[in-house]
Parts: sequence; structure tokens; C-alpha cells
Amino acid sequence: MKFQIDVTLSPEDEKNTTLINKLILEKTLEKLSPQEKKSFNKSELKSVFVKKSIDARRGKVKFHLRYDVYIGEDPSQSENALPHWKKADEKKSVIIVGSGPAGLFGALKLLESGIKPIIIERGSKTDERKRDIAAISTKDTVNPNSNYCFGEGGAGTFSDGKLYTRSNKRGNIQSVLQIFNYFGADKKILTDAHPHIGTDRLPQIINAMRNKIIECGGEVHFNSLVTDFIIEQNATGPVAKGVIFKNTKDESENQITADCVLVATGHSASDIYSIFARRAPDCLEAKTFAAGVRVEHPRELIDSIQFHGKKSENLGAAEYRLTTQVDGRGVYSFCMCPGGFVVSSSSSADEIVVNGMSAAKRNSRWSNAAIVVEIRPEDIPQEFTEAAKKMGCTQLAGLLFRSKIEQDAKLNGNGQAAPAQRLKDFLANKKSKDLPASSFTAGLVSSNLGEWLPKQISERLKKGFEEFNKNMKGFICDDALLIAPETRTSTPVRITRDADSLECTALRGLYPAGEGSGYSGGIVSSAMDGIRCCEKIAEKLKS
Ligand SMILES: Cc1cc2nc3c(=O)[nH]c(=O)nc-3n(C[C@H](O)[C@H](O)[C@H](O)COP(=O)(O)OP(=O)(O)OC[C@H]3O[C@@H](n4cnc5c(N)ncnc54)[C@H](O)[C@@H]3O)c2cc1C
Repeated sequence: MKFQIDVTLSPEDEKNTTLINKLILEKTLEKLSPQEKKSFNKSELKSVFVKKSIDARRGKVKFHLRYDVYIGEDPSQSENALPHWKKADEKKSVIIVGSGPAGLFGALKLLESGIKPIIIERGSKTDERKRDIAAISTKDTVNPNSNYCFGEGGAGTFSDGKLYTRSNKRGNIQSVLQIFNYFGADKKILTDAHPHIGTDRLPQIINAMRNKIIECGGEVHFNSLVTDFIIEQNATGPVAKGVIFKNTKDESENQITADCVLVATGHSASDIYSIFARRAPDCLEAKTFAAGVRVEHPRELIDSIQFHGKKSENLGAAEYRLTTQVDGRGVYSFCMCPGGFVVSSSSSADEIVVNGMSAAKRNSRWSNAAIVVEIRPEDIPQEFTEAAKKMGCTQLAGLLFRSKIEQDAKLNGNGQAAPAQRLKDFLANKKSKDLPASSFTAGLVSSNLGEWLPKQISERLKKGFEEFNKNMKGFICDDALLIAPETRTSTPVRITRDADSLECTALRGLYPAGEGSGYSGGIVSSAMDGIRCCEKIAEKLKS
């Protein structure tokens, strides 16, 4: 017999095994029928820790621990097995554009069927990428192919590595976590309710995944920017046969063909949408996205609000999640980084974009989160729709609007030093005389954000912050800082695909996957989407 039970404890009792075992026994007995109780033998009870979550609602901090309880069964029999990655047999191959979570997990999925993945990645390996990322703050330079968004491991490599998702496909989530754990992530990710890896650990994990793919016969081409698709016309219409790519170091051009192409280029690859706009415009679709700012507070303040002034080593840095509706649009927190840093995640020198990350210990002096406003296709100002029309693809309007916000941020910043304002001053519509200390190392420029952010964003943000302050008293405070803009929580464009085959509707042989294609948001859901697409590809190639 197997079932789950939840045990609730104070943070101080988290490691009190005597108490925990007592509670497990009590809860188990509560679950048993009178008849089952009669035959129950305590020595046959085995429990396996499944998940831990912190509950700080209603003025008290509690830990909820979830256990799988087995009576007369062997827990090891029900563990999820890791996949078996085979040596690629060279008979079938798939080009994967982009080595983010969708691309890497997709590649591993193909290897389960012995299909060879060929990854084409515009950015550099993690080691070189670290230097390019450092140069954003130290030298004010942005390498357009190697930055926080582009390079080995994708946008998630130098991130918080938060691994929770709103997707509810539990089994699939667990298998992604198990693969991360196999490649080096702490086993705590398998049991934490809100698992995260940390930016200091992610690069080694990504390297280990890449090495496994190569060891199994896959190929990984770095510094290789895809500039076009090789398309053949056949009786049923256009079919993608391969890609043309440019070596970003020596500018040499190459091409490669394969049985299928998976496009997993992330939310920042505007150039990929331009290729689609030119080659298969019908498959682009405008979608809702979001834009706003990053808010940063002293970590102690957020901990104190969330944990009601309680201090405990066991609690770690506090998280929050805020959401409200303002004038018919969602205003919400996103990618909250407790004990983290705000970073400059621009992917081109003519823009400023910010994001957040934290190390495994989440122990910086600050906590930050994106606070963004929902933007629907019908909210895009006319001038961007007109401009997109002139480009022959109105679906790109949202992308142009996003770029304008990022370029305006550049005009109001200085180099990669980002425009910033105290939250209180933003609400009072006045430029800040000075700015509080911040984790953002690329520099800050005092700016009245309400003067240049589109009104549909700034006005809703103001009302949203007032609402959030009702739930988290003290959120609006002297030291709360806004850094702008946060524009890449998702993409404004979707590449359409068939609901069953997951193949692109206007270009057969091509599979759009992950966040840039509009099918996921975040590391785990992008990994799951890459896996799903590659399952479909494997089915097709094996038939
Ligand atoms: C700083 C930061 C922190 C984040 N923190 C978190 C977090 O804690 N948790 C979370 O779930 N999500 C986080 N995210 C978001 C998360 O990283 C993305 O949702 C996820 O990486 C998307 O995966 P993907 O595989 O679809 O695309 P990406 O990870 O964006 O990967 C796309 C890849 O394609 C490559 N590429 C693009 N164009 C081309 C081309 N033309 N030719 C060849 N290669 C190309 C890029 O270089 C990139 O490596 C964060 C993002 C950033 C920037």
C-alpha cells in the first residue's frame, strides 16, 4: 500500500527526526481503516521524503513536509528511472538551433532513440561566455552573440536556475529535475517545493550535458549563427531541409542538412523571426507578452515582511509572488530572485534590458523581482503595426514595440548603466535626487521612468504597486528601487505548429520549440517542450 501524507512543523523542528517519525506514524494511522489498523505492523512502514514548502501565511511561519508512505512495499521499486542515452547510429540526424533548455533536453531525448542531434549555437561555450558577460559591466560592451541571453545553455545558464513551473505535468517535471540532478544539481531540487540551482552551479551542469551529447555521438557547433533555412519545394509545399550558418569568429559561411530542424532560439532572437517573416510569414502569430521594471529591496526587509519578523537560518531568503488586475490587464511579479542580483541582459549594444539571478545560497543583500504588465496584441500602438506592415509582416508589431522600449531605456541610461528610480519617487512622478545601493553592477542613471515608459505600462505599474503594498506592507519604502526595463519575460510572437505533430504549419520538417517559439516560459517548461517536440520527431523518423 502506498499513499502521501503531509506533516506540518515549526522551522526549528525541521531536523527533529524523532518528532517527524512520530507525526508520520500518527498521520499514517489516521489514513488506515479499522481493519487495516489491526493487521498494521510498524516495522513494515517506510517513508520517503517528497517535497518541502514554506508557508508564511496568516502571521505564522510553518514548514510542510510531504512524504510517500509505503506499507509492506519496497520504495526503491517506484523510483523514476533515468533515461538511457544511446550512441547515435548516424542513420538519422536532427539539426537543433539553440542550446538552451529546449535544445539540450531535446537533444538528449533524441539520443534515447539513437538519433543524432546536431546543435548549432550562435554563442560561445560557458567559459568564454562568462568573460563576455563580465565585459557588459566592466567595459560597457555587449557581444551580440554571447551575453546573458545567447550562448551555451541559453538564457538560463547565468540565471537563478529556478526550476518551478506553473505547468502541472508533474511526471515530466520530475524527469527534468532528475536529469539536472544526474548532471550535477544538488539532490535537494528533487524535493524542494520551489527548487533552484543557482547561477554559480548551472554552467558546470550545462557543460556536463554537452559532454554527454558529444560522447553519445551528437555534434555541438558554437559561435555558429543561423542566418537562413534551406527549403525545398515538394508536392505538399515547402519543407525545411537544413540551415545556413555563419561562423561569428571568422565570418565563414556553412550549411548543413538533416532529417528535421528544431528551432529553439529563445525570446531574444529577433533575427530568427525576421527569417520566418521572409520565408514563411504565415506561421508567425502575434501573442500576449509583458513588460515593466525590476524592483529591488534590501533582502532583510523582504524577509521581515514575509516571515513576520521571524529570523531563522532554516528559512533562507523569502520569496513573494504578487498579482493583480489593473484596468483590464494583469500586473504581476515574475522571476523573483531572493538574495539575488539584478543583471544587464541586453543582447545588443543599442538597447538596455534587465533581468535577475541568484547564487545557490541566495545570500546577497538584496531581493528582486520583475513587476510587469500584460500587453495584448491589440494594445500595441498603431505606429508599430504600421511599421511592421511596411516590413511585410504585421505580426512583428509587438517585437518592434518591445525594441522601442529597450532603445528608449538606452537613451535614458548611459552605456549599459540602466535608468532607475526610487519606487516612492516613481509613484510621486519625480526624478530621484539619489539612488540607494544596488546589486546592479553595470551602473544606474537616475531617470523619471514614467516620462518615457509607455503610459499603458507605467500607469498600471503605479496602481499595481499600491495594491501590492496592501498585501505586503512596507513593499513601498524609501529603499525600494526600480531598474528598467524588464521586457523579456516572454516573446511577443509565436511560430505556429500543428497541435498533434508539433511540426510548423507553414514549413514542414521544421519544429518550433521552447520560449522563443511561444510554447513555454522558463527553464523547466522549455526543457519539457524540447522533449515533447523531439518525442514527435523520433516517432516520425522511426516510422
Ligand atoms: C538573467 C536571466 C535569468 C533567468 N532566470 C530564470 C529562472 O530562474 N528560472 C526560469 O525558469 N527561467 C529563468 N529565465 C528564463 C529562462 O532562461 C528561459 O525561459 C529559458 O532559458 C528558455 O529556454 P529556451 O531553450 O526556449 O531558449 P533559450 O534558453 O533562450 O536558448 C536559446 C538559444 O538559442 C541560441 N540562438 C538564438 N538565435 C540563434 C541563431 N540565429 N542561431 C543559432 N543559435 C541561436 C541562443 O544563443 C540561445 O543559447 C531567466 C532568463 C534570464 C535572461
